[in-house]
Amino acid sequence: MLSLAVHSRIRESLIVLGKKMRSFRTNDAILVGIESRTSSPVRIPRDSASLKHPKVSNLFPCGEGAGYAGGIMSAALDGIRVAQANI
Ligand SMILES: Cc1cc2nc3c(=O)[nH]c(=O)nc-3n(C[C@H](O)[C@H](O)[C@H](O)COP(=O)(O)OP(=O)(O)OC[C@H]3O[C@@H](n4cnc5c(N)ncnc54)[C@H](O)[C@@H]3O)c2cc1C
Repeated sequence: MLSLAVHSRIRESLIVLGKKMRSFRTNDAILVGIESRTSSPVRIPRDSASLKHPKVSNLFPCGEGAGYAGGIMSAALDGIRVAQANI
């Protein structure tokens, strides 16, 4: 069961979403579940030119786990960026 804090925040956010994206929220809809994810709260350091870790040789932090992306496309593009910086 959802805690009151989570329940009220979801309720408030759906009202805001309904105002931003008309017809997404109706009084007939039944919310049966939500998908939730968060981006990595940490970022592995990397040199801005070489995109390598500044201290650990041959470590190329990239993508979401390293803190440089927040989705499939941004993770893929970051991987390409790191690869191209090291050709
Ligand atoms: C439930 C869910 C839904 C999502 N939906 C969307 C969406 O709709 N749209 C969107 O844009 N993004 C979505 N994302 C985010 C997206 O999936 C990620 O941002 C993206 O996959 C990150 O890519 P990545 O290559 O950085 O990491 P990952 O895809 O996690 O790849 C990391 C890889 O490294 C491997 N690995 C880990 N440790 C080691 C090790 N020690 N040695 C060797 N290999 C290792 C793992 O097995 C894995 O294959 C979603 C994520 C989740 C969890």
